[in-house]
Amino acid sequence: MQPRELSETIKAVARACGFDACGIARAESLEYLRPFYREYFSQQREQSLTYLKTNLEKRLNPALLLPGVQSVIAVLLNYYPREPLPEKNQFILSRYSYGSDYHVIIKNMMREMVLRIKAIYGALEVRSFVDSGMVAEKVWAQRCGLGWQGKNTLLIHPRAGSFFFIGILLTDLSPEPDEAGKDHCGSCDLCIRACPVGALDSPYQLQPGLCLSYHTIESDQPLPEFIKEHLSQRVYGCDICQEVCPCNRFSQPHRVAGFEPNPKLKAMTGKDFRDLTPERFEELFKGTAIYRAGYHRMMRNIRAAEGYGAMD
Ligand code: SF4
Ligand code: SF4
Repeated sequence: MQPRELSETIKAVARACGFDACGIARAESLEYLRPFYREYFSQQREQSLTYLKTNLEKRLNPALLLPGVQSVIAVLLNYYPREPLPEKNQFILSRYSYGSDYHVIIKNMMREMVLRIKAIYGALEVRSFVDSGMVAEKVWAQRCGLGWQGKNTLLIHPRAGSFFFIGILLTDLSPEPDEAGKDHCGSCDLCIRACPVGALDSPYQLQPGLCLSYHTIESDQPLPEFIKEHLSQRVYGCDICQEVCPCNRFSQPHRVAGFEPNPKLKAMTGKDFRDLTPERFEELFKGTAIYRAGYHRMMRNIRAAEGYGAMD
């Protein structure tokens, strides 16, 4: 099969498996990013970077993840909800966390995609990744022509915005690659100005140690005072730098049943959140991304948000 036909077939399979977009790039070395990471690591002390540091060589060289790799296939899955959680919930959760754990959903969809490609082409070498520090997902998605990394550091699809999960497949197939996405942020700086804690102090670079998302999701340390002050009822993640992005004006609701919130979650009030027990937390969040953060982190965030003005 010719590279172009191969590329079209893979994209058709991705669509048939439920992905919203698919692009392809040659699996070249990302060695040009090494100075960026060196500088980044020298400035950051967050624990979450340990995994990134440990896996830097794999991140820069996909052949260390899959010997004989020829191509990178990136897929996008929209998670933009039909509507935000009800106001009576009082506390705000990042949109990506409303439904079932995206890692599981996307892995299953990519498994199906691989099975279908194998059914067409026979044996192939392939490895898939979701949210893995071993793969520079946003860099690859841009190289696969699916958008650009905006000044808020997120991947922005030119027609559909940034409320997407990214999945990456490494393969020894050689379909025709796409043209890399071009930056369209231009002179816009809305995300930088909107960030309440200055975590985007330099365009295209996030300071995790300042970011509400990092502190409310990743960090198991007590929340710093400046984070508590700026929670504004956000108890799991922060979407501000996406909400203000003009590229998200035309975001469409997702089509994934598993991303719908649990009806019990929609029925929660602020008091219900404050009174959460470990058992109730399990009932509400088991199988979601929030469950990974755990009960104690959630309660730490709720107490902190409450201390700074969340009222019934
Ligand atoms: S997620 Fe929130 S805190 Fe983090 S950079 Fe974006 S706006 Fe700032
Ligand atoms: S808000 Fe503006 S600068 Fe920020 S990512 Fe969106 S387009 Fe780029």
